[in-house]
Amino acid sequence: MKVMEDLHSSYGLVSIAAFILVMFVVACAAHRIAAKRSLCKVTKRHESWPDKAEELMDFIASYDALTGLPNRHLFDQILTEQIGEAKQTGKPLAVMLLALGRFKIINDTIGHEMGDLLLQEVAARLSACLSEGDVLSRQGGDEFVLLLDGRKREEAKKMAEQILSLLAKPFRLTEYEAYISVSIGISFYPIDGETADELIKNADAAMLHAKRLGSNNYQFYVREQNQKTQGVLQMEVDLHKALERGEFVLHYQPQVSLLSGKVTGVEALIRWNHPQKGYISPSEFIPLAEETGLIIPIGEWVLRTACRQNKAWQDAGFPLMVMSVNISARQFLQSDLVGVVKEVLEETGLAPQYLELEITESTTMDVNRAISILHELKKLGVRIGIDDFGTGYSSLNYLKRFPIDKLKIDQSFIRDSIRDSNDATIVKTIIDLAHHLKMIVNAEGVESQDHLSFLREHLCDEVQGFLLSQPLPAQEFVRRFAEIERLVETMWRTEEQSEIISRE
Ligand code: C2E
Ligand code: MG
Ligand code: MG
Repeated sequence: MKVMEDLHSSYGLVSIAAFILVMFVVACAAHRIAAKRSLCKVTKRHESWPDKAEELMDFIASYDALTGLPNRHLFDQILTEQIGEAKQTGKPLAVMLLALGRFKIINDTIGHEMGDLLLQEVAARLSACLSEGDVLSRQGGDEFVLLLDGRKREEAKKMAEQILSLLAKPFRLTEYEAYISVSIGISFYPIDGETADELIKNADAAMLHAKRLGSNNYQFYVREQNQKTQGVLQMEVDLHKALERGEFVLHYQPQVSLLSGKVTGVEALIRWNHPQKGYISPSEFIPLAEETGLIIPIGEWVLRTACRQNKAWQDAGFPLMVMSVNISARQFLQSDLVGVVKEVLEETGLAPQYLELEITESTTMDVNRAISILHELKKLGVRIGIDDFGTGYSSLNYLKRFPIDKLKIDQSFIRDSIRDSNDATIVKTIIDLAHHLKMIVNAEGVESQDHLSFLREHLCDEVQGFLLSQPLPAQEFVRRFAEIERLVETMWRTEEQSEIISRE
């Protein structure tokens, strides 16, 4: 819009405007037929594409070039008009905001052209569910908004369910098949807002709530949600500043070998020391950092700090340990991870075999891409671990093809392995599987001596958990190191004595 206004006001830029017009017409030609169809349905203002230059300029200012749908500006105008009408007639109105999940990953992995095709296909599917008087708009990025004319709660609910099932079907993008998720937020006139701005803002708050509930669902706006959403927005603002202000710290949790009883590894776990709220756990801010892309600089900071720390411990004559660093899906797929790891290792002087990257099963969804990145990382000499194993539905066939050094059994299985025979079987099976594939097995979340005995009995290689130590700040980790190894020794002695007693 700003660009268009500038063009209008500056006579000298007429030739640039003409060039943009030509480019626009060319770009739109391919989508003209589909767009025409949706435009007729969504608004009566443009039955066809204007031929005159000035009208075309107005058109560009009001419609989204990619999908041919009304843009945010036009949608606001139409919604305001509809609200005016509803004030007179008392007819209900609903505003439905849709955000696509996984769109960014698709854009980044198979390319922007495919991302564009996907948005066009989404627009076409959504257009197909509209009734007379409804308006569909693309708000930019991966967000769409719908004005549902004359619809009450029950009808809006049906429509949301219909959209969810329509968008759950795979999208054929030339040779690729892609799946997306969608989060929907719904607000109603007049109870949730009396202006276009309020209705969209509150539908947005409801959509964020749906997203946090795990996407592929819809939520109606409720007032308390808004307060929570504002809290999330504030956290996003704070998160942007946190890195510059040095508010992140790493804590380190020891990983103990069940063969030697020694600490052979350590996992770096991030904490946010917020100036007002104190320590914030990663499960609270990592999802937000992923969503906003901030995970890329934060992840790089973690990698650099952890490698620097491990090298400093080695230089101080501490026993050699492998440093495990968590790598989020977005970090793995988006940034030049291999380049960053290489640079950090060179900069810190840490030998690659003392760095282990922990990824989760969901990170490896694009199997061929994952295989290629993992092989490049292996070429650098670093180790690869699969975190929270057992929760991500990995295919065993793929597991065999990934160059993996370690499987970390998810703590949910360890927690119940003592009481629940199914979990005990899962743990034993994962240990066997990993050993067949020549991988090391780590059990996370070891909280009791019973867990430890069970894992030792079934030949698990390594344990990590509160029984031995919480994640600790670097200095405390050093202070407690010898104590942790002594604790393991004492536990083993107790275990052996009770075995002797039970045999006698
Ligand atoms: P994770 O990588 O699976 O880390 C293990 C989590 O389990 C840690 O939680 C740890 O404190 C906790 N834990 C360890 N032993 C026990 C135990 O015996 N019992 C129980 N109940 N919990 C135990 P934390 O530090 O809150 O981290 C949570 C998750 O946040 C991590 O799960 C990881 O997925 C993510 N995360 C942490 N640091 C980073 C980071 O630097 N980058 C990225 N991308 N993710 C991180
Ligand atoms: Mg981990
Ligand atoms: Mg884990």
